[in-house]
Amino acid sequence: MSRAVYSGWACVWCGASLQRGGEPAGRARGSVGAHVLDVDVYQCLPGAGCSSLRSKQTGDD
Ligand SMILES: [Zn+2]
Repeated sequence: MSRAVYSGWACVWCGASLQRGGEPAGRARGSVGAHVLDVDVYQCLPGAGCSSLRSKQTGDD
């Protein structure tokens, strides 16, 4: 993942910039060497970005 995703600035799925904010997408687990890098990640808001694409695919909401 990019630094922007790790910092909560970008969608974890599509990488879109979350200038209007995102919704929590869970916690990503990662590590670099001995450093644990568990971070909260975010995704596009419902109806925006890849979230809208997912809704069309599933038919939910
Ligand atoms: Zn997205």
